[in-house]
This record gives sequence, structure tokens and C-alpha cells, in this order.
Amino acid sequence: MVSAFYRDTWAEINLDHIYDNVFAMKQYIREDMKLCAVVKANGYGHGAFEVAQTAIEAGAEWLAVAFLDEAVALRKKGIQVPILILGAIRAGDAGLAAEYDISVTVFSNEWLQEAESYIPNNASLPVHIKCDTGMGRLGYREIEQIKRAEQLIKQSSAFTLEGCFTHFATADEIDTEYYEKQYAKFIELLSALSELPPLVHSSNSASSFRFEKAWFNGIRLGISMYGLSPSPEMKELLPYPLKEALTLHTKIVNVKQIEAGASVSYGATYQADKQEWIATLPIGYADGWIRKLSGQEVIIDGIRMPIVGRVCMDQCMVRLPKYYPVGTHVTLIGKDGKEKVSVDEIAERLQTINYEVICSISSRVPRVFKRNGSVQSVSNSLL
Ligand SMILES: *Cc1c(COP(=O)(O)O)cnc(C)c1O
Repeated sequence: MVSAFYRDTWAEINLDHIYDNVFAMKQYIREDMKLCAVVKANGYGHGAFEVAQTAIEAGAEWLAVAFLDEAVALRKKGIQVPILILGAIRAGDAGLAAEYDISVTVFSNEWLQEAESYIPNNASLPVHIKCDTGMGRLGYREIEQIKRAEQLIKQSSAFTLEGCFTHFATADEIDTEYYEKQYAKFIELLSALSELPPLVHSSNSASSFRFEKAWFNGIRLGISMYGLSPSPEMKELLPYPLKEALTLHTKIVNVKQIEAGASVSYGATYQADKQEWIATLPIGYADGWIRKLSGQEVIIDGIRMPIVGRVCMDQCMVRLPKYYPVGTHVTLIGKDGKEKVSVDEIAERLQTINYEVICSISSRVPRVFKRNGSVQSVSNSLL
């Protein structure tokens, strides 16, 4: 599937790096463990289908997404491995999930009772019981409730108990006290089950790196599959080097010289103090290159140069040290020569986490997928 794009802004997704990151984790964990590639939010902005395919090639046995729509989209593109929906689905959609053989998260007995009536007689919906051990988001918190859930699932042919899981709130922090509390609570809730389901899982990237005891028989790999550290603190503790998969690029579409005192962009907040070369780039906040990135540096010709004036919806301006022609390549995230702008640098500037930076690159930005060093496909959501 090669579709074109006619605007010189694109994200490049290095699938070789995704492959290497998944493969490295497969080597790190025990052989009998199942690796789940988390591809929610369009694969953290990288392209869910392409990432899923690559992760499966590298040894991932199953996938996870947040919502039913994301799972159905993967099935429609031909993905056949088990897919777990980590979020809630409507009871009324349980039949659709069963039809597509998509596994769902169960955290309420009312939901189980209601959903049962929507599942066709010849179908059985695979379910994972979610335990809330301290995240406070979704999941059973009480022994009695979880026992009842197991009964409801096992006494009905509409459901198949496939797994039981929890999620840690602080696995990426140095201090492990809260983590240990959650772990202990999970063990307690698991012991309420009459027998363990085939898949017991609790670890995201950070927990997978650090706590072998919490591997059980599966891990859920998200951020580190994309080559990013779960937190700045965790960088020192990574058991193997990660390879960043996403880079962001554009090209100069206009260059001009402005006089001292002339201003740039909305609000006329930037004023040149001498004669300056200013380049216009075709990327703006509607692409996820948000207004707070005014002042951020980009790399042109191996040199860092600042974004000046306000970032507009579709464009922003950069101050050049000298003339560069229209068509000159600009790296917004990635390496050029000796310089590198990492996702973490952008996250730090925006006082957020790297997860949010990559997820925010909007669907208007075409994705160019590279595999074995060359372009494998291009996706442009518009065309
Ligand atoms: C997103 C998510 C993950 C992946 O976490 P990372 O920190 O990106 O590895 C795992 N489990 C659940 C329940 C999630 O929501």
C-alpha cells in the first residue's frame, strides 16, 4: 500500500528499530513467556498495523489496544493474533468483539450479566479479568467480586476465561514501595481465583525491565518497543539499549530576508534585531507541533536553529544563520550530522512525557515506513 503525499512534512518510522526493540525484549524474558505488543493510539503514533506486523515478526504473540475500534481496524487489515482491548467496551458491543475474536477486559459483574445476552449462541468471548491493585482506573478491588466474576464467566458458554491482569502506577519510579503494595495486592486477588487462567500478566515496559517476579507468563510492551525510556529515571536502568523508531521531518517552503525591527507570526511577538534570514516550515499545531514549541530548535544542515514567533496551525518560522534554499531538509525530531533532537528533549521542553509527544503527532502527518533500510510503504490518512 503506497499512497502519496504532497506536503513536505512526514514522520519516518524505522520498523527495523521496532523489530530490534521487540527482539531484544524477547531475548531478555524467559522463553515460555508471551510478549504482547501494545499498539493502542495508532501504535503510539507510529502506525498500529505496521508496528503490529513488525512486532509479530520479531516474536510478539499477541497485541493490545485501548478500544474496540482499534482492534476491529487491525482485524480488518488481516491481523490474526490475539488482540486484547485494555479499556472498557459497551456490553452491547460484546457480540461484535466475539465475532472478530477480540479479547476484552472485564471489571464489572453487571457488565458480564448484561453482555452475555449480546453474544450469539455459537460464540464465546475471550475475557481477561482486570484487577485494580492501586491504579484506581479499571478493575476489581474486592475478593468477593472477583470470585463472583470467575463464577459468572465459567458458568456461561458465552465467555472464555483467557487471562487475569493488573497495571502498575509507579513501575517507572526509583522508589518501589507503592509498586510492592500493588504487587502484593495482585497476588492476593489472584489467590481468590479457583485456578489461574492461561495468561496472567501485569508488567508494562518499566516493570518488565525491573521486576522478573511480575512477569508471570506474559508482559505488555509499549513505550520501549518504540525505543523510548518509560521515564527519565529509568534510562540508567535499561537492561539493553533502545532504538528510537520515530523521526519527524519537513522541508523549507519559503526563505526571505527581513529587516531589523520586522516581526514574525501572530501577535508580532518576535522582532528581528538585525537583518535576518527567516524560513517557513509547513508544520504547525494541527500536526501536533504545538504552540509551546516556539523557541524549540530544529536541525538544518547539521546545525540547530530556533523556531521564532508563534507556531501557527499549519506553519512555523525558523531563523537561519545564512541563506538556505527552498526544499532544504529540516529535522524536527531525529539526527542530522552531529546534532540530535530526541523525543525526550521535546517532552522536557513541554513539561510532559515522551508518550504524549509521539501520540500527539496528528493523523495529518504522513507516515513513511522503512524496513531493511528502505521505504516499505507510506500511509497518508487523507488520501
Ligand atoms: C499502555 C499500557 C501498557 C503499555 O505501557 P508502556 O509503559 O508503554 O510499556 C501496558 N498495560 C496497560 C494496561 C496499558 O494501558
